[in-house]
Amino acid sequence: VCYTVDSGTTFQRPGDLPDTSAKRVLLFGGTFDPPHIGHLAMAQLAWEQTGVDEVWFLPAPSPPHKAEIGDDTFSWRLRMVEALIDGRPGLRAVPIEMYLPRPSFSVDTVRACQTWYTETQFSFLLGTDSLAQLPTWHGAQELVKRIAFYVAGRSGYPFAAALATVQSDLADVRATPIEMPLLDVSSTWLRERLANGLDVFGLVPPRVLDVWNAGP
Ligand code: ATP
Repeated sequence: VCYTVDSGTTFQRPGDLPDTSAKRVLLFGGTFDPPHIGHLAMAQLAWEQTGVDEVWFLPAPSPPHKAEIGDDTFSWRLRMVEALIDGRPGLRAVPIEMYLPRPSFSVDTVRACQTWYTETQFSFLLGTDSLAQLPTWHGAQELVKRIAFYVAGRSGYPFAAALATVQSDLADVRATPIEMPLLDVSSTWLRERLANGLDVFGLVPPRVLDVWNAGP
C-alpha cells in the first residue's frame, strides 16, 4: 500500500506508525546496512543538543542512489536499527517510508510527516557528506523550504565548505552543525570487513550483529 500526500488527496496515517505527543522530532533517514556507532552517536548527540523530544530513524526501503538495496531487506534493516537503539529513550525506529512511493525520496517523507503529524515540528539529521549532495536530491528546493537540517561532521567533508556548496544552489537551506568527534565509520567499510570475515566489535553493537548474522 502506498499512501501519497502530494496530489491534493490526504490519506489517513497508517495504523502502525507512532501516535506521538512529541512537539519536536528530528528525522534521521538512511540505509542502515548495517547501522553502526556513527549513526548511534550522531542521533544521541543530536537529541541532546537540539532538545527535540524524539529522533526517528527512518530506514529507506529503496534509497535513490543505491539501486541494489530494496524492499526485500527493509524489515531486516529495521530490526537492526531497533537493536541499535535498544530501547534508548528519545530514539525510535519508524517504518514510515514503507508506505511511501519508491524510490524513497526524503521530500516525500517530510511531506508525509508534516501532513500526518500536524502538531509536531520536524527537522532533519544528516552527515556533511549528505549535506554536500543535497542539491542533487529529488525535490531539493521544496525540501529545504519545508525543513531545517542538523548536520554531523564526516571526515573529508568540512561543514563550512559543504554548506557553502549547497547554498550556491539552494539559497534557502538552513543547517546547524552537531558537535561531535569525527567517527570515520561507514556501512560500506563495515560490509567489506564482514564479507572478509573480519571483526566489527566496537563498531557494530553485538545485538545488531546478531540480527545481521541471522540474515534477511
Ligand atoms: P554507506 O557506506 O552504505 O553509504 P553510511 O555509513 O553512509 O552507509 P547511511 O545509512 O547511508 O550510512 O547514512 C545515513 C546518514 O547518516 C547519512 O546522512 C550519513 O551522512 C550519516 N552518517 C553515516 N555514518 C556517519 C558517521 N560516521 N558520521 C557522521 N554521519 C554519518
